[in-house]
Amino acid sequence: MAKHPLQFIEVRRKDPDKQPAEERVRHFGEIYGHYDPANAAQQAGRCLDCGNPYCEWKCPVHNYIPNWLKLIEAGKLFEAADLSHQTNSLPEICGRVCPQDRLCEGACTINDMGAVSIGSIERYITDEAYAQGWRPDMSEVADTGKRVAIIGAGPAGLGAADILAREGIRAIVYDAYPEIGGLLTFGIPPFKLEKEIVRRRRKLLEGMGVKFVLNTRVGVDISFQQIIDEHDAVFLGIGTYKYVDGKLPGQDLPGVVDALPYLVSNINRQLKVDADPANFINFAGKHVVVLGGGDTGMDCNRTAIRQGAKSVTCAYRRDEENMPGSKREVENSKEEGVRFLFNRQPIEIVGDKHVTGVRVVETKLGAPGPDGRRQPEPIEGSEEVLPADAVAIAFGFRPDPPAWFEEHGIESLPSGRTRVSTHGEFPFQTTNPKVFAGGDMVRGSDLVVTAVFEGREAAKAISKYLGVW
Ligand SMILES: Cc1cc2nc3c(=O)[nH]c(=O)nc-3n(C[C@H](O)[C@H](O)[C@H](O)COP(=O)(O)OP(=O)(O)OC[C@H]3O[C@@H](n4cnc5c(N)ncnc54)[C@H](O)[C@@H]3O)c2cc1C
Repeated sequence: MAKHPLQFIEVRRKDPDKQPAEERVRHFGEIYGHYDPANAAQQAGRCLDCGNPYCEWKCPVHNYIPNWLKLIEAGKLFEAADLSHQTNSLPEICGRVCPQDRLCEGACTINDMGAVSIGSIERYITDEAYAQGWRPDMSEVADTGKRVAIIGAGPAGLGAADILAREGIRAIVYDAYPEIGGLLTFGIPPFKLEKEIVRRRRKLLEGMGVKFVLNTRVGVDISFQQIIDEHDAVFLGIGTYKYVDGKLPGQDLPGVVDALPYLVSNINRQLKVDADPANFINFAGKHVVVLGGGDTGMDCNRTAIRQGAKSVTCAYRRDEENMPGSKREVENSKEEGVRFLFNRQPIEIVGDKHVTGVRVVETKLGAPGPDGRRQPEPIEGSEEVLPADAVAIAFGFRPDPPAWFEEHGIESLPSGRTRVSTHGEFPFQTTNPKVFAGGDMVRGSDLVVTAVFEGREAAKAISKYLGVW
């Protein structure tokens, strides 16, 4: 039967069920349920097929969104999974962690009436297809005999590995961590992305012939010289791990922690990879202040709540409108009991032998700075101390090029980002022609989906460089 052209009005947006806040704060698992095939088809059918797929253009990997929605509406699950993998190496992960409100769904033509639930359907496609036996089709891939080393098993490295494997190029992925995923595993908390999903992706990639060499830090456990000698090309996707230093007086006081070690200590405990209680940062029973308004800050908020903090206050120096964190995660934090203080800039961590508070000053937004964002200006006489016995600092990360870059002619920009070719024959090629790079180390801390995109594009360039593409 033909679809009613106004189906998007008759059928309202319905997201998969979300657990009530009081229930979900008692565990660290994912908080959203799943569509069944009937719900997925009905929600996919809300797509207008508007002819101007802004969703597709706004998506950093340019997913063929209206096309896979149509396939889901028609019940063609495996075809949708194949199509979804044509543009994205980690669709089930992006479906979970992308800020859809400012990407595909924000650009959806019917956004005013409730955008099509693109993220949840994207997640459904791979989850359900995998459960029903779908696997990437490698039947027509012929081995070219070429070998490429990938350093970093984060989204950029995994995106590169996926494309190289499909090109018949052997991808050998080195990572310092004991599991793949980079920040997907050792950063993003399990209530946003359960680690079983990353392990499943590892199985899929290994099934495609990708080899992982884990617990191996290049430059320490194996030299970059050996890597470059033994492979036809190298892709670097080593991320950004140097903390942005707020240079706050008192920031070294006991009780003040950087966001990432805090989050990772909690994840390691969940994964049972580190049972040493001395390495576990626990905010149970504490009054916690989280500084920073990005995704990392939101993850600290919600982790502290789950650990049983007495109170969690998140202070951010701009207003809510200008917060970099995904709106969905800000909403989830609020529902779970986090108190937000907008327009508050921290100026000092207060305490003697241990942190007792954070001195903040109220701000108003002034003229745009060099980055185009309106700059917070302190309001004189508005200082106050927020009481705290634990503080997590989430000011972001900068790239930190290792010493071996220079030895091998891999140049960095003054910001620490790796210099790559943006135009010309081989995009993402570094100043060492045999070495390519992408993801956070090239663009600065950003998103999973942009790292996947750059890894994939770099791999296409590598394939061309090796005469395979
Ligand atoms: C707490 C947190 C929450 C986030 N939440 C979101 C979110 O909700 N949505 C979203 O889209 N983005 C989110 N992000 C951002 C996103 O995770 C990153 O943009 C993305 O992971 C970058 O991918 P990457 O592959 O460039 O680097 P990474 O994921 O950082 O991976 C780099 C890998 O390189 C390895 N490595 C580094 N040096 C070496 C070496 N010398 N030898 C071997 N291995 C090495 C590291 O061990 C790591 O595994 C979040 C980031 C953080 C920190």
